[in-house]
Amino acid sequence: CGIVGAASHQNIVDVLVEGLRRLEYRGYDSCGFAVINGDDTKHPIERARTTARVSELAEQSKDFRGTLGIAHTRWATHGKPDTQNAHPHISNGLIAVVHNGIIENYETLRTELKAAGYIFTSETDTEVIAHLIHQQYVSAVQKDIAKAVRAVLPKLHGAYAIGVIAQDNPTTLVGARAGSPLVVALGNEENFLASDALALAGRAHAMMYLEEGDVAILKADDVEVIDQSGKSVERDRKPMPAQA
Ligand code: GLU
Repeated sequence: CGIVGAASHQNIVDVLVEGLRRLEYRGYDSCGFAVINGDDTKHPIERARTTARVSELAEQSKDFRGTLGIAHTRWATHGKPDTQNAHPHISNGLIAVVHNGIIENYETLRTELKAAGYIFTSETDTEVIAHLIHQQYVSAVQKDIAKAVRAVLPKLHGAYAIGVIAQDNPTTLVGARAGSPLVVALGNEENFLASDALALAGRAHAMMYLEEGDVAILKADDVEVIDQSGKSVERDRKPMPAQA
């Protein structure tokens, strides 16, 4: 349903929670977020999820600190609305994913991943994305989260906007879209992803709509967009919407 992501030098827990709050009006059955703190690659991904309101999520995660993170409000399509099915979904402590939309071939992918040894902890279509990215990420000679995401996209049939982080890469946030909206919002030494720019009004100074098949690689000081053909591209910068 709703996605917010952030890459910053500062703690972004509040901006993620505030972003979710601004997306609440769209409706949701559960919400959650995951963060990674600073340069500490030993630190596990911290995650909070609830079927209660965003305010309850904020309460649960009062002690969280993170400079990189992804957040989600879920409107269940596959798997009942409960905490186990709430996003982000995490593969083997390493890859965390939030997803809007539907992966139509998830049953086939799920069977393949189970045969490869992956253990599923939810009933969602989304969880296959986390495991597929994990599979690519750990099998590559050089760990590159954007490359792993790009390798997985052709396997996904359906509509998606996703936000992805890797536990051992605390500076890079990856977004991708096909069939569901996703924008990049540019801040001051911080950059964001959102399904709707309203989530970040007042925090960013400009935004870019991602096009079909785009992959965005966000760091606090840099944004790169790669199109479907693998070319690095520029997308038009637009003013942010006024704060509601
Ligand atoms: N299909 C996913 C799920 O059911 C994402 C739903 C959404 O867009 O919130 O978990």
